[in-house]
Amino acid sequence: MRNLFLTNTMTRQKELFVPIHPGHVGMYVCGPTVYGEAHLGHARPGVTYDVLFRLLKHLGYKVRYVRNITDVGHLEHDADEGEDKIAKKARLEELEPMEVVQTYTERYHEAMRKLNVESPSIEPRASGHIIEQIEAIKKILDKGYAYVSNGSVYFDVEKYNRDFNYGVLSGRTLEATLEGTRSLDGQGDKKAPYDFALWKKAEPEHIMRWPSPWGDGFPGWHLECSVMGEKYLGQEFDIHGGGMDLMFPHHECEIAQNQASRGTQGVHYWVHNNMITINGQKMGKSLGNFITLPELFSGSHPILTQPYSPMTIRFFILQAHYRSTLDFSNEALQGSEKGYKRIMLAARDLRSLSAAAKADEPVSEEISAIIEGVYDALCDDLNTPIAIAHIFEAVRIVNSAKEKRISLSPADLEALGKLFDEVVCGVLGLIDEEEAGGSGKAEKALEGAMELVLEERKKARAEKNWAESDRIRDLLKEYGISIKDTKDGASWTLD
Ligand code: ZN
Repeated sequence: MRNLFLTNTMTRQKELFVPIHPGHVGMYVCGPTVYGEAHLGHARPGVTYDVLFRLLKHLGYKVRYVRNITDVGHLEHDADEGEDKIAKKARLEELEPMEVVQTYTERYHEAMRKLNVESPSIEPRASGHIIEQIEAIKKILDKGYAYVSNGSVYFDVEKYNRDFNYGVLSGRTLEATLEGTRSLDGQGDKKAPYDFALWKKAEPEHIMRWPSPWGDGFPGWHLECSVMGEKYLGQEFDIHGGGMDLMFPHHECEIAQNQASRGTQGVHYWVHNNMITINGQKMGKSLGNFITLPELFSGSHPILTQPYSPMTIRFFILQAHYRSTLDFSNEALQGSEKGYKRIMLAARDLRSLSAAAKADEPVSEEISAIIEGVYDALCDDLNTPIAIAHIFEAVRIVNSAKEKRISLSPADLEALGKLFDEVVCGVLGLIDEEEAGGSGKAEKALEGAMELVLEERKKARAEKNWAESDRIRDLLKEYGISIKDTKDGASWTLD
């Protein structure tokens, strides 16, 4: 198996990846809090950890990839104070919180499917693990690292910090944490502002509530990932991923909870993807540059000059290293669109190339070097931009062969074919949208076909052949297409 190196946020070092159990990898990634449309901020971790998941499998590991859905406990301010994000949405839209969760989980899945992000092995929900969270809180209380206060349970950061180091991941000291902690009303139950909730008492108006030994309430946001990680991957597992913004406090708290409840930090490699900016600015609703994925795919956001296909977005994300910030702009996306299309065109051209009569020749040195370069880059902390640069060298070779400036042996063609199938498509997850019927091709074909069908039906009606006209209508109905006769002809809709 090839050596894989990953930058471990815990040590700030690029480290050789050695799994706990040879041949097997357990990976946990913090998933979305499902209270709104999938947006750019979801796309980057979605694609980044998808490539890691695919690469690990391609290298021969058996991978269990857990990506959670946060459907309770993520509060508006500092994750720990204010209204639950999902409960708030439910209140504003007069829905049951789980209706909000269902809707936006489906939207998230749909966006991920379009981006060709594979489903994780397990996708657990926080609300499905209340019992496990209560058990973990009991353990932390037993060990003395939490306290009950007015129906809530808080983690005692100061006590923990005396025995262990709170801040091992982020490198923050307790003093620095104190400065960064906003003081809000309602913190009166905590002993110190940096203490965080393991269990929050539900006020009478709070609709998402469960019984517990400390009264009706709901779990704190940080706890779910500790508990679900342990449940599905064991007390210690290999990789934990997420956005850089989750490193503190979310992941720092996770480590403290793990250490306090089960005596181990729990995670061997912490991997964090950097953030996305838009025209150099942080993405935010107040800045008017908050772009959802459907807006990006349809081009309907005012700052976009055109729609960008899911594969253009995926390619764009992979053109930057996951640890660098990624700046979205129309110009950059247009560049990615061109680059992506060039690679797909070469993949198509490659299939129609025939080998020159050099049957016994081994793969040329140049092509071998390109393939090695691609693998070396991917295994060097997932360096997708360098891998893509090597793939463009392969594109250049395909183009030269197409223009008959060079000839390729059968072994060359096979090696290049494998590179495109197994790495470009298999690991980087870039599929040919034109071939897959994307870019509205299928829709256009359906429109054309329906025009023909309605034309035939119009003829039948003109000849007063009602039987034929009805037969066409009934047949279409079976295919899920409804016809409505209007004054000037007929229109159709998909049921
Ligand atoms: Zn998490």
